Amino acid sequence: MPNQEHDLIVIGAGPGGYVAAIRGAQLGLNVACVEQDPVLGGTCLRIGCIPSKALLESSDRFYEARERFAIHGIHPTEVTLDLPAMMRRKEQVVTTLTRGVEALLKKNKITRYLGRGRIKGLGRVNVMNSEQVTELKAKHIIIATGSKPATLPGIELDSAYIGTSTEALSFPEVPRHLVVIGGGYIGLELGTVWRRLGAKVTVLEFLDRILNGMDSEIVSEARKVFAKQGLEFRLGTKVSAAKVQNGSCVVDVVGGEPIHCDRVLLAVGRTPNTEHLGLEEVGIVLHKKGYIPVNAKFATIAEGIYAIGDAIAGPMLAHKAEEEGVACVEQIVTGYGHVNYDAIPAVVYTDPEIASVGQTEEQLKEAGIDYRKGSFPFRANGRARTLGQVDGFVKVLAHANTDRILGVHILGPHAGDLINEAGAAIAFGATSEDLARTCHVHPTLGEGMREAAMAVSGRAIHI
Ligand SMILES: Cc1cc2nc3c(=O)[nH]c(=O)nc-3n(C[C@H](O)[C@H](O)[C@H](O)COP(=O)(O)OP(=O)(O)OC[C@H]3O[C@@H](n4cnc5c(N)ncnc54)[C@H](O)[C@@H]3O)c2cc1C
Repeated sequence: MPNQEHDLIVIGAGPGGYVAAIRGAQLGLNVACVEQDPVLGGTCLRIGCIPSKALLESSDRFYEARERFAIHGIHPTEVTLDLPAMMRRKEQVVTTLTRGVEALLKKNKITRYLGRGRIKGLGRVNVMNSEQVTELKAKHIIIATGSKPATLPGIELDSAYIGTSTEALSFPEVPRHLVVIGGGYIGLELGTVWRRLGAKVTVLEFLDRILNGMDSEIVSEARKVFAKQGLEFRLGTKVSAAKVQNGSCVVDVVGGEPIHCDRVLLAVGRTPNTEHLGLEEVGIVLHKKGYIPVNAKFATIAEGIYAIGDAIAGPMLAHKAEEEGVACVEQIVTGYGHVNYDAIPAVVYTDPEIASVGQTEEQLKEAGIDYRKGSFPFRANGRARTLGQVDGFVKVLAHANTDRILGVHILGPHAGDLINEAGAAIAFGATSEDLARTCHVHPTLGEGMREAAMAVSGRAIHI
């Protein structure tokens, strides 16, 4: 059994794991990164953020060319879909980026182990692949094993017709009717892709709203826009079963007629990937939701063993995993390093995009925090007019006494890029006055952010 010694072993090479490994190497550690998949980058690069955004981009081009070019005076004679070519482009984007991660690990002299990592005791990890078991030793171990799609009782996943986001990223043809179970961001993004490419899309959601946890004013406006795009929503709908029958799918809902369709996407959230890791060998007991309990330094109760990313509590987002990767390693090496969870944005890449950072109005009300609110609609923004994308608005929430920005929520074009300014404002403890007095380039969508900040004190100019 080959035996290797390192300072730090990172299990998992997703955005949490590979970023932690690189930061460790930068800080002078001899780092090992254990990944079971031959392709690096984790869920995010292989079957998550990147392929979904590549398809959102391609499907948007197709939809634009068909439906929106005419208003610009452009009349393409024929717009046809070459789905295999669209999928090949997506794969190329993924390959370029995953190879980039490979190059970064090499550049930082990180030793890569291909195989399944399992903790064998404090400071010990075994890596198993079809050829051998390698025993690794290190003072520090970071678990960054990510998450997997959650399942529902009664849903018979067959990886062809009834599948998860992984299958919906690679359908071989455009479904006639796609039923999406779950109105969260993954279901809405992939539902949007296939809707734009021509599928009828029905979203079934157990709750009486979509995008649970996001600001409800923004979400209810978004739902109206999505409905205009043809996404059909059935809220308060409990799915009891889904199966393939005579070559088509049947989805049973409680108290309603079964729905017949040709594809089902199960998108009811994700669960931490924390099984079969040998945690019991070192006394780590999982939370009942499956994640690994850690303290503010990402340390588990087992000495020298840490966990980050989707494997621990908190929003399952790639940039959150990256933040934790960096902070965890900095804690280990320098004793400092932290994540500001109030300043972690979240984005839904629909059209328009939805982006938010900080607290929602509901959260502020529930916490009894007095706040003032300023909103500004994109229909009053010059740049949005030139883009022809005027749906949505920016909302800034600031503390009633201190004026400190507590939350920013955006529905609108490029909301995902705009939100970074709001994240920086919250991270620096900025007030709405600070944002309102910051000169913003004209004509840009960012001016909408400034106007919303001005609206907090009732002095937006263009509305
Ligand atoms: C369709 C989809 C779209 C998404 N879009 C976005 C988005 O736009 N923005 C965003 O921020 N987030 C998005 N996410 C979520 C994002 O992908 C995750 O939050 C992120 O990848 C978590 O990073 P991680 O490093 O914790 O885990 P992961 O990326 O899941 O990586 C964990 C890695 O660990 C490996 N592993 C697991 N167990 C072992 C083991 N025992 N031994 C060795 N290796 C192991 C896995 O193979 C995997 O490569 C999306 C997810 C999906 C599914």
